[in-house]
Amino acid sequence: MITRMSSLFLRTLREDPADAEVPSHRLLVRAGYVRRAAPGGYSWLPLGLRVLRNIERVVREEMDAIGAQEIQFPALLPKEPYEATGRWSEYGDTLFRLKDRKGADYLLGPTHEELFTLTVKGEYSSYKDYPVMLYQVQTKYRDEARPRAGVLRGREFVMKDSYSFDLDDEGLEASYQKHRAAYIKIFDRLGLDYVIVAATSGAMGGSASEEFLAVAESGEDTYVRSTGSDFAANVEAVVTPVPPARPIEGLPEAQVHHTPDTPTIDTLVDFLNGAGLGREFTAADTLKNVLVKTRMPGQKEWTLLAVGVPGDREVDMKRLEASLEPAEVALLEEADFAANPFLVKGYIGPGALQANGVRYLVDPRIVPGTAWVTGADKADHHVVDLVCGRDFTPDGTVEAAEVREGDASPDGAGTLVAARGIEIGHIFQLGRKYADAFELDALGPDSKPVRITMGSYGIGVSRLVAAIAEQHHDELGLVWPRSVSPADVHLVVAGKDDSVFEGGERIAGELSRRGVSVLFDDRKASPGVKFADAELIGVPTIVVVGKGLANGVVEVKDRATGERSEIPVDAVVDHVT
Ligand code: ATP
Ligand code: MG
Ligand code: MG
Ligand code: MG
Repeated sequence: MITRMSSLFLRTLREDPADAEVPSHRLLVRAGYVRRAAPGGYSWLPLGLRVLRNIERVVREEMDAIGAQEIQFPALLPKEPYEATGRWSEYGDTLFRLKDRKGADYLLGPTHEELFTLTVKGEYSSYKDYPVMLYQVQTKYRDEARPRAGVLRGREFVMKDSYSFDLDDEGLEASYQKHRAAYIKIFDRLGLDYVIVAATSGAMGGSASEEFLAVAESGEDTYVRSTGSDFAANVEAVVTPVPPARPIEGLPEAQVHHTPDTPTIDTLVDFLNGAGLGREFTAADTLKNVLVKTRMPGQKEWTLLAVGVPGDREVDMKRLEASLEPAEVALLEEADFAANPFLVKGYIGPGALQANGVRYLVDPRIVPGTAWVTGADKADHHVVDLVCGRDFTPDGTVEAAEVREGDASPDGAGTLVAARGIEIGHIFQLGRKYADAFELDALGPDSKPVRITMGSYGIGVSRLVAAIAEQHHDELGLVWPRSVSPADVHLVVAGKDDSVFEGGERIAGELSRRGVSVLFDDRKASPGVKFADAELIGVPTIVVVGKGLANGVVEVKDRATGERSEIPVDAVVDHVT
């Protein structure tokens, strides 16, 4: 196939887009692959669409190879199935909800466990029907709090989601392993540097779960891996061993404060004034998401403590320090959580602490006089990692602890090092959560019903375009791996003479006949403009037809290494195929 740049719907940009924070976003926009249409919504222009389709092709080939069958659901879905599993409410603000003209509730699918479960229930009834694996490549919708970095985190994005249905746990394990192996093949074929890490299962429910993270500084996930074993985990998933509970003796009852659910400046001030800190507080003293390190008199350990109220009041650190006397207080940093992923992000608010997306109930025994509680049922966890004095923990209920670089690996082998990654794939053993919700059973050989067990497996197809670009670029532009490049060869005509254009035409035609897809720069532009575009667009092989043609040679350049070689015109097709 020949794509002529003289007529290609493409305009490259010399300037970086103002809103681009990461290289992939900058370059995909500049090279004319995508254009922003809405917050978190991007249009795919011809070259971008080709890359997207190439990734889809690799994904489909490997899904088909493990026997998964492709189907397709609507994105516009009725509320009822999601209500049956509780996800209509669990998803919260992330779910796009809408009403039809009759007032019925609908949603735009963020992921499709419910529909797949119902569909299998509709078609299959006997144990002989199982196992089965189904998938789709489909547009998903999530009203992300922070759409980011172009197609890296969209509100509308393309996901491959597949689902396995098995009669027993061994079957589920086998389906999970098939997906795991297929994902390894897919990400290898896409030329990615990635790690497989233990993961939390988030809103899906279920137990065994791993994430595939493309290694990238710009990634939003932080993972730790051991220097002494193959242990690797998303920090969200790390549970470090917790020493036995050691309640603090002799705490007066008055130290435990119950406050209303909604934090206000007044409740915080009341609390601080009631906490016996030896100082009067006013509303002007209240603090905004500040991390402080405190040490109560007689306490050996420093305590990492987040204090604050929502709102935009200025933080007065001098006053903060004074206010927390007689504890020693030192400012660690003001909400620079991005720079230090191991600091717990959050604040002691009335009862609960939001940290890393999880609600913690603060145990009032931990930091005498600085914590207060509301109803335990409001919190997801009864945890105190808020504080790093690790031997202060409530009885047996701690589920998470901070991990830091340099900590011992939970498996005892080696220490932990941390890095950042982009979540490109996620595999879950869901178990029977959805089968239970919809009573998905197969009739067993003894005519008794067998509850089906499920897995769900996602790949961020559109996110992969950006993830690959994050790993494959240089200061001049994109550098695509062959498997996803919008063309095999970028053929540049550098010169004004008809003979050079004719030579280019001939080579393009010959390459195309041999099955090589050619991006043919047949524009009447200056060589400088054409070369700059070739570097920016990032096709792996650049062939330049120019002055050398008179001597029977063309120049072949490897985009990744920059290596150039002069090749006889007659040999160029063999050289690049
Ligand atoms: P993240 O942690 O990045 O928000 P997630 O854990 O919410 O992702 P999953 O529910 O596991 O995502 O969805 C499967 C895959 O879909 C993810 O591994 C990711 O590659 C992709 N994905 C999820 N959200 C987005 C998004 N907003 N834009 C693009 N791709 C996404
Ligand atoms: Mg998410
Ligand atoms: Mg995630
Ligand atoms: Mg995930």
